[in-house]
Amino acid sequence: MSTIRPVGNRGTHLSEPIEYGRSVIGNCLEYWPSASGETDVLIISGIHGEEPDCTVILSKAMRMLDAMPERTAIVTCANPDGINRGTRGNANGVDLNRNFPTADWSSDSVTHRWTIDCGNEVQLSSGEVGGSEPEATALIELVEKLKPKQLIALHGPLGWIDDPDDSKLAHWISEKTGLPVVADAGYPTPGSFGTWAAERGTPIITWEFPIEGIETMFHTTVPVLVELLSGAFTSPE
Ligand SMILES: [Zn+2]
Repeated sequence: MSTIRPVGNRGTHLSEPIEYGRSVIGNCLEYWPSASGETDVLIISGIHGEEPDCTVILSKAMRMLDAMPERTAIVTCANPDGINRGTRGNANGVDLNRNFPTADWSSDSVTHRWTIDCGNEVQLSSGEVGGSEPEATALIELVEKLKPKQLIALHGPLGWIDDPDDSKLAHWISEKTGLPVVADAGYPTPGSFGTWAAERGTPIITWEFPIEGIETMFHTTVPVLVELLSGAFTSPE
């Protein structure tokens, strides 16, 4: 188990990440490997550029530890163009979480809500074909390379733990956060990373952060991620 780093030392990461690809406009796609080189869990954040809180929360949890996680690898930002520009999609206007080459990938436009209380009106593309975007193909190659036993994708702000496998890990996160476990998002998600992972046979949990300000989540969510990264849950399914 890792110990907690003194606050004064948390300004930077413990190590440099490894580049796993480039975005549409050439930004680095980076991941931190596990300390052991074995990847039981791969955590992915920031595939939606309008959810930068997920990137910051995950980074804060990493920087609280005095050692890299033993068997967990981490992508803090899977969509750097979107984060830079503050858009949900990438620089091509593609919702990357609808661009994975799944059986149900669709060329139909993708819509999302401007705010949580709006209808699904804001239009994005799902790409030319499934896997057309470099951020999606690079993530696929990373998963193929690391062969994680469990994926965790961080999103917001729906406030639930989506796990079709109803795993012990999902319930562990649920108990720690108070967020409910659900079996699916309740709406179609063709071409999603989750569907791609399921078709590949890799279990995936989608952890939707709640509608809380980021300062609140420093207290409610960061500690749970710290526990997870430090190995408090040791038997991912
Ligand atoms: Zn999202």
